[in-house]
Amino acid sequence: VSHPSSALNSTYTRWMEQAVGRRFGSEPKATCGDCAMCKPPATGLGRAFLPSVKCCTYWPDVPNFAVGRALLAGGEGASRLREQIGRRIGLSPFGLQSSPRYHRRYESSPGKFGADLEMRCPYYDSGDCTIWENRNAVCQTFFCLMEDGIPGAEVWKQLTLLLALVEEKLSVDCANRHLHHQGFYQAAFQSNGTRNRVTTRTFGGWIEDDGTISAELHAELWGDWAGRELSFFEACAADVEGLSWSEVLMRVGPEAEALSRRLRLMSPIAPPRHLRPARPGLALEYEEGNESVAYTPVQGALDVHVASIDLWSALLAFEGGPLTEEGLKLPDRMLPAEDAIRLWKNGLLVEGGPVVARAVEPEDRLRVVPRLPIQERVLFSETGAATVEISAGSTELSFDEPELLRFGRTLYARRQGFVAAEAKEWSGRSWEQAAELLDGLLALGLLERL
Ligand code: SF4
Ligand code: SF4
Repeated sequence: VSHPSSALNSTYTRWMEQAVGRRFGSEPKATCGDCAMCKPPATGLGRAFLPSVKCCTYWPDVPNFAVGRALLAGGEGASRLREQIGRRIGLSPFGLQSSPRYHRRYESSPGKFGADLEMRCPYYDSGDCTIWENRNAVCQTFFCLMEDGIPGAEVWKQLTLLLALVEEKLSVDCANRHLHHQGFYQAAFQSNGTRNRVTTRTFGGWIEDDGTISAELHAELWGDWAGRELSFFEACAADVEGLSWSEVLMRVGPEAEALSRRLRLMSPIAPPRHLRPARPGLALEYEEGNESVAYTPVQGALDVHVASIDLWSALLAFEGGPLTEEGLKLPDRMLPAEDAIRLWKNGLLVEGGPVVARAVEPEDRLRVVPRLPIQERVLFSETGAATVEISAGSTELSFDEPELLRFGRTLYARRQGFVAAEAKEWSGRSWEQAAELLDGLLALGLLERL
């Protein structure tokens, strides 16, 4: 996969210049030609990707207008698309989609990213993307490593949402411009107007597990265009060619305008004025070495950073404070502003003033800090007595008193959110005792208020 100076293709670059007023350059740390993720990880965290697949364990949807453009561009990408179209795999007037079989595997294999050859993209060829200029929004905005860390990832995420929405809506708009027979409307849309998908077999006719569309469904969908699918896709490419962003908005609706407004507000990325620690050692997955701590900004992130034990300890003792031109005043040192900003980008510092501790109230809404990798186990002793163990980040909790087993299990089950008063019932104790337990978990950094 090559590495151009702009992350987006020429059309999306032009639209984003008009919509957001800026160009999104690609990420220099993601050295695709010499894949950054294919090298063994420098720390104990993470794993190397297979060079024969890199991050392309992904079968992307390609919207109809992009299929048309790739066909017109010719070359290996066009041959692969022509073959897929000829076999009716994932083929509908909205473009080309992944198969139900691939979709199931993707959903059930979160750990296979960069590692499963069976999930390799059909457009991947010996390290290169054969449809590079016309790859979809997800492919254009994916980077394993990001210069601006967490805030940078937020910008890319917004951009993905915006461009994926544009692809979805424009592909429906293009199909509607050329297909007017009843069969198309009946097979291609649900009663609420959403488009059907090959991937999840929501079309009314038969779709094989490998994505092959039955001859009957194909005929129904394509009407007069059956047998002329290549020309159809090229016509869709012509529909989109030369559109300005305001013309795109007229076709895709106000949601895209709202997303692009949000993207304008997010970029350029501005460092916050107040920073406080993100509870290091709890909020991050880490392994202690002799002199340093390796950590990832969020659970599952691909980039790994290293902080010295000194700095780690200083952050543990830090309660938060203003970021000035001189930097950030930690208990034992003045951290230069650029270092503080780097730690904010890497997730060790977050925006906000010092956390003021206050006792939990019955109506407080709480949850387990979502960035913690959390696991629950129930163990039994020889006498049959049960213990519930919860590990979250570097914290291990053990509930072995019989009346607290339910508390531990329910806390795990309700980790995404609960009202504090509910914990009284789980703990089988008075509200004051339950509140004491919750206060302890808040102080440990395992729980946070919503
Ligand atoms: S974006 Fe993909 S190909 Fe590029 S360096 Fe990262 S893992 Fe490798
Ligand atoms: S379309 Fe290209 S960039 Fe996207 S997954 Fe396939 S080979 Fe990789």
